[in-house]
Amino acid sequence: MIVAMMESATEEQIQQVIERMVELGFDVHRTTGAIQTVLAGVGKPAQFEVQEFQVLAGVAEAYRISSPYKLAGRGFRPEGTVVRFPNGVTVGGEEVVVMAGPCSVESREQILLSAQQVAAGGAKFLRGGAFKPRSSPYSFQGMGLEGLKLLREVGDSTGLLIISEVMEISQIELMMPYVDVFQVGARNMQNFNLLRELGHVRKPVLLKRGIAATIEELLLSAEYILAGGNYDLILCERGIRTFETYTRNTMDISAIPVLKKLTHLPVLGDPSHGVGRRDMVPAMAMAAVAAGADGLLMEMHPNPDKAMSDGAQSLFPEQYEKLMDNLRALAPVVGRSVAKPAYAI
Ligand code: PEP
Ligand code: MN
Repeated sequence: MIVAMMESATEEQIQQVIERMVELGFDVHRTTGAIQTVLAGVGKPAQFEVQEFQVLAGVAEAYRISSPYKLAGRGFRPEGTVVRFPNGVTVGGEEVVVMAGPCSVESREQILLSAQQVAAGGAKFLRGGAFKPRSSPYSFQGMGLEGLKLLREVGDSTGLLIISEVMEISQIELMMPYVDVFQVGARNMQNFNLLRELGHVRKPVLLKRGIAATIEELLLSAEYILAGGNYDLILCERGIRTFETYTRNTMDISAIPVLKKLTHLPVLGDPSHGVGRRDMVPAMAMAAVAAGADGLLMEMHPNPDKAMSDGAQSLFPEQYEKLMDNLRALAPVVGRSVAKPAYAI
């Protein structure tokens, strides 16, 4: 059930509604937006009448929701979620935010150069995997803790926030001091134990769509994190597996406007994993922004031909720079903007 309070509702009225919901057996999630407070009742009380809530003092609207994802649904926060970072960067606001960097952290030199190039292009986040989910156990598995330390160091020196993938529960605490966003990869979208644990963390999470996951399954996975009380959640479309083999995956651009309609959570596009070929990444990046994405997660490498993972889909630094300029020109057409670089090499 969703109970939307009136703009003029007092704290006392809000508390009375919460008390009644709890009495009935609901787990209550509260969100206070710019205009009103919305209360989401999760759980299945044996019996209740939604009309009872419609007439309580201070209530604007109360309705049952049949959607299986109650907290991820648009109705919980009609105005949309804005994820805020301590340095003032926001994801889900007017600005289209770019997260860029290599697939993996490979060395100090590589990640420092990457950070400088990423910052000089105007991105706000440096990406880089320290723990890598590789299809083959013989492929490079990442630098681990050493990689995380390098990410933090070069992020701080270039003014970039850090996003890196967490693959299992035991890595959460280890990663905490080094990352600003926990990335949950496609392969872990339905690692429900990991999702539940990330619900208890007080740090933003970016959840990628699984390679064979429906939009509803993605939203149900998001619900696991939200149900734990972590509302700083960002979704990411990164391509799905279809019968087409020309591209590595099929970038489902249509998932972006669908998600924007169904959920209040910010939605990013990852054109790199979406197509797997750097010659097509810029077109898909532009398409994602035109379709309403709140940001992009992209792979860029100072020397892609020497990359230890995903080199073929990593942009050359010049390509990335040109794409950022093109995104700055495109964004205003859809009422958005892309920041100018605040860093020069
Ligand atoms: C990555 O971002 O490098 C990655 C492994 O992505 P995905 O989980 O989408 O395959
Ligand atoms: Mn990758």
